[in-house]
Amino acid sequence: MEDRRIIKTFDDLVSIYSPSFGERDLCDCLKAKLEALGASVWEDNAGDLIGGNCGNLCAFLPGELPGPPILLSAHMDTVEPAFGKKAVFNGDTITSEGSTILGADDASGIAIILEAIERIKESGLPRRSVELLFPVAEEKYGLGSAVADYTKLKAKEAFVFDLEGEIGEAANAAPSIIAFTVSIKGKASHAGFAPLEGIHAILAASRAVSRIPLGIVAPGLTCNIGTISGGKARNIIPEQCDITGEIRGFDHGAALEALEATKAAFEEEAEAIGATAIFSHKIEITAYETLAESPATLRFRRACEAEGLPCRIHKTLGGSDNNNFFLHGIEGLVLACSMHNVHSARESASLAELEKCVQLTARILTEGTP
Ligand SMILES: [Zn+2]
Repeated sequence: MEDRRIIKTFDDLVSIYSPSFGERDLCDCLKAKLEALGASVWEDNAGDLIGGNCGNLCAFLPGELPGPPILLSAHMDTVEPAFGKKAVFNGDTITSEGSTILGADDASGIAIILEAIERIKESGLPRRSVELLFPVAEEKYGLGSAVADYTKLKAKEAFVFDLEGEIGEAANAAPSIIAFTVSIKGKASHAGFAPLEGIHAILAASRAVSRIPLGIVAPGLTCNIGTISGGKARNIIPEQCDITGEIRGFDHGAALEALEATKAAFEEEAEAIGATAIFSHKIEITAYETLAESPATLRFRRACEAEGLPCRIHKTLGGSDNNNFFLHGIEGLVLACSMHNVHSARESASLAELEKCVQLTARILTEGTP
């Protein structure tokens, strides 16, 4: 019975087109499922704030065990191509039909949360109070959870279902991700007749790029120049050169230092030849680390042990809603929840893994320690 129910839930969720900024239909479906579970449900105004058709969906389910609520979270949006996606069940494996993503990222997470709560209800076991947050636009650097209304949340611990890997794996740290753009302005002139009258924007850019350490520039710190474009024609000194790049670092301060050094390289090299460099950046997401002795980490370890699952906690290079939760005083982990080859048409999930993760989640919510 339970097996069939999670298959149906997963199938329902996957069949709904829910791109970032267009999560309305999924949200309405989920709202109905949560209300059927007896949760009090509300939606915040994130959609208005970020230009989507839907807010973050929140819910509360009071429990019998003492202690503040535990926050469970999985995001409602998916990447593209997702239109018309459909889950294909083949033995234990679930895939898409081949031309779209599957959307196990993050339908697996949502289905696991719903099923775990149903299971506990049926078992009659007492559980902790639960807050649920289903953010929009996670795939856009957590834009939805960045503007969520945290005043209504009381949880201090979060479990975010949004990671590739074996069940029992979790991420306890993610980096700051800082995007930057540089626009170098020189002066155009004819490359043959008047080369000395031009100011070579590409020359300034290339000197700067050659100065900037790229790749792994320190442990836990990466820097990349991702695009560069400039110039109008073979025989014109290029007036303009535009560059984009990013810095990722587990230490937010170190990432900011690398950003400053990058900015200085472009500004100095531009100035050296009489060009100007306009540098701008955006902190897409801010680094966090949930420590080994944090209540969420300890709870997860105990639950894995009780379920006989090997527990493996590590850092990840990708951001998630958990980065934003941490900024609001909620310390959590991102849990592996049966999603593989995400953001590709080869994405898959597994029924056995979904089941394992349901059990693990039920254990997290029903163990006695506040
Ligand atoms: Zn995800």
